[in-house]
Amino acid sequence: MPSLYLINPAESVPGYFGLEVLEAWAGIRAVGMADLAMPTVAAFAPADWAVRLCDERVEPVDFDASAEFIGLTGKITQRERLRELATEFQRRGRKIIIGGSYASLSPEEVRTYADILVIGEIEEIAAELFADLSSGRYKPEYRGTKPDIGAGPLPRWDLYPPGHAMTAQVQTSRGCPFECEFCDVIQYLGRKQRWKEPERVIEELNLLHGYGYRSVFFADDNLTVMRRRTRSLLEALACWNDRPAGDRMAFSTQVSIDIARDADILNLLRESGFAMTFIGIETPNEESLSLAGKRQNLNADMIGRIRTIAEHGILAFGGIVVGFDQDGPDIFERQAAFIQAMPLPLVSPGLLVAPDATPLHARLAAAGRLIDGRQSAASVVGTNIRPLLMSDETLRNGMIWLLNRVFSAELFAERVAAFVDICGEHRPQERMPFFSGMNAALARRLARSGRPEYALIRMLDKAAHARPDLLSILTTIFVYYCQARFMLEREGIWDETTRRRDRPLI
Ligand code: SF4
Repeated sequence: MPSLYLINPAESVPGYFGLEVLEAWAGIRAVGMADLAMPTVAAFAPADWAVRLCDERVEPVDFDASAEFIGLTGKITQRERLRELATEFQRRGRKIIIGGSYASLSPEEVRTYADILVIGEIEEIAAELFADLSSGRYKPEYRGTKPDIGAGPLPRWDLYPPGHAMTAQVQTSRGCPFECEFCDVIQYLGRKQRWKEPERVIEELNLLHGYGYRSVFFADDNLTVMRRRTRSLLEALACWNDRPAGDRMAFSTQVSIDIARDADILNLLRESGFAMTFIGIETPNEESLSLAGKRQNLNADMIGRIRTIAEHGILAFGGIVVGFDQDGPDIFERQAAFIQAMPLPLVSPGLLVAPDATPLHARLAAAGRLIDGRQSAASVVGTNIRPLLMSDETLRNGMIWLLNRVFSAELFAERVAAFVDICGEHRPQERMPFFSGMNAALARRLARSGRPEYALIRMLDKAAHARPDLLSILTTIFVYYCQARFMLEREGIWDETTRRRDRPLI
């Protein structure tokens, strides 16, 4: 019987979304999000194949697995481990298949590690690939197309290790019509959005609900950008998710800031169960937005729009980027003030990076401004770009200052209070104390850091009493705050002397 062992490699360094803090501080081996790529690929295996999945973030790789083919997937943040695993399994005589977003966007970085390289989306080439593998006459490379994403089989969640992921995933669309210069998503998935019908999405949710998941991330690049299809999807979700507390699903996703102009869609998002959404806010520097082609953020009252989203009961998780060509040394203090002016507890500040295959990468390569000529993912203060208006050192030091500022417990607590103050009401949730189990373990560890941290914990507890409808949102805020602090401490860039709010950058 042909056999396949599919592996999602461990991340090289913790990121804002990995939730490695759960194991480090609370002894809970779990990931923020279950991997969707492996169950999706596994579903295409013919019935006579034996398929096994391993998410290395929650269980060790079995190097003695008897599978004939080893399948490796992953993002750029997993590349070191992906290469190590490929090398070790090749040494053991296995055939290595590599696919996923990293392999698709940077094929030359993995080609030598793969017997079979799969570039692009798998749906329309899966039948040919598995037939060739079965016959033993396979090609060194397969190139995917832009398929109808609703036509494939349902993901094989039955094979995914149970009980380790806080959130499962569905994907209802691929692609985004915008054209941000630094974005590799549109290079991989295109600008013409393709989507699944609501009935198909509900089928996938039924499957996940049956496996016990009560939290689902919609892994769309921009869920709401096509308003008519968004409306029909959200109406179907609102109807499906009209359930008692405990049985109801909590949803999260990614949208662009233009959503704040559409009160109807915001109301539908909340009614259907969305409590959090990632939004690329990026920068208060309009010149940077303009050069980056981030037209949906231009000339927008970003602070007002984030307020509007919060008033509709939705927590924004703000993507923040520093290091654009128009960013001078004043950008760090501008960003700190900008972030603090919004009811926005959760942010993920990072340096601008030029991923392979993007227009930004091509422009900077032509200008000789790429460091090492390759992407950097090894650090939250790492980049592959030489800044234009400041030195490398100023960029790095300024970013460390900004991170310490933004995640100081005092300033974070102010943003939480601002959010809770205006957040629209959610449906009542099951009554339970804020500090049960996981939260209590994290709180005990965080409280050891000092008085501001203890005060933050107390204020979250009080907020949960005052607004029991926000219990799960407050838990999300708390867990992601702990993850950010864990990341910064682990990188050795959490610094007592710079995080005091009254200390200016220069
Ligand atoms: S809005 Fe987001 S997904 Fe769309 S092009 Fe810009 S960065 Fe990429």
